Amino acid sequence: MIIVLKPNATKKQIAHLVEKIKALGLKPMVSTGVERTIVGVIGSEDALRVQPLEVFPGVEKVMPVLKPYKLVSREFKPEASVVAVGGVKIGGKHVVVMAGPCSVENRQMLMSTARAVRQAGAQMLRGGAFKPRTSPYSFQGLGEEGLKYLREAADATGLKVVTELMDVRDVELVEKYADMIQLGARNMQNFELLKEAGQSHKPVLLKRGLSATVTEFLLAAEYLLSQGNFNVVLCERGIRSFEDQTRFTLDLSAVPVIKALSHLPVVVDPSHATGHWEYVEPMAKAAVAAGADGLMIEVHPNPETAFSDGPESLLPGKFAALMKEVKKVAKTVGRTL
Ligand code: PEP
Ligand code: MN
Repeated sequence: MIIVLKPNATKKQIAHLVEKIKALGLKPMVSTGVERTIVGVIGSEDALRVQPLEVFPGVEKVMPVLKPYKLVSREFKPEASVVAVGGVKIGGKHVVVMAGPCSVENRQMLMSTARAVRQAGAQMLRGGAFKPRTSPYSFQGLGEEGLKYLREAADATGLKVVTELMDVRDVELVEKYADMIQLGARNMQNFELLKEAGQSHKPVLLKRGLSATVTEFLLAAEYLLSQGNFNVVLCERGIRSFEDQTRFTLDLSAVPVIKALSHLPVVVDPSHATGHWEYVEPMAKAAVAAGADGLMIEVHPNPETAFSDGPESLLPGKFAALMKEVKKVAKTVGRTL
């Protein structure tokens, strides 16, 4: 249920309505837009039969949200959200690029990669300190040591850090070093992790599950918003299909589809989607043409020796060339990069 307030509704009227909703045992979520305020009501709507909210001063209309997800929907918030990660704004005119290695391997490689991606125009540094690996024998990440290197490299270069959180027990640790928490594809439906990240004060980058439909993806995001964290960015990173020439199949139609259904910003990860460095640039260009608000790209100083995802990682020089090409596409669709 969403309550659309009149454009001239006063703060006092909004506060009164919020109190009433709470008294009914429901949870109000207030979204203050440019033109008007909307209040989402979470909980069993039976209570509203007894106490219709239309009658309250300042209320224009009360509407049921028919979609299974509520707070992430365009009905709840018609205008696009802009998520701020420090001073970096995702969802505005500027296309935000997050780049860096798959895994943080050591201090030196991270520093050199951070400098290179910053020089080429990236605004955020990516890199995993906790790695979700298919095999238990593969490199699992440096843990807190990796987080420290990320913070140091980002601070030295003026980048913001996005890094994966895999375990509810590590929330505080990751929050301490990261500017944005990444929830990986394999954890998109780890509901306890979603609830914890939903209570974090840090913005969240939620990656689409390997086999998740858009509806499931949006419902996973709903977990975060329903816990109070509205600073959520969605990431399309390829889904499983019968095609085996690429690692996954990049579902670029998810970009306009999600934007039609939700107000949340959408970024695209062409590295994990294709699994091959040669295909990263064409799909990065296509993503920006399709309306992506950002890109996540893997860059490694020596992909041949990478501990993880070497085949899809770009050399710094190739990444700089990609940035130049993507910039041209951004310009033609009225964006900057
Ligand atoms: C990553 O970005 O480091 C990663 C593991 O990606 P995904 O969760 O999309 O597989
Ligand atoms: Mn990777």
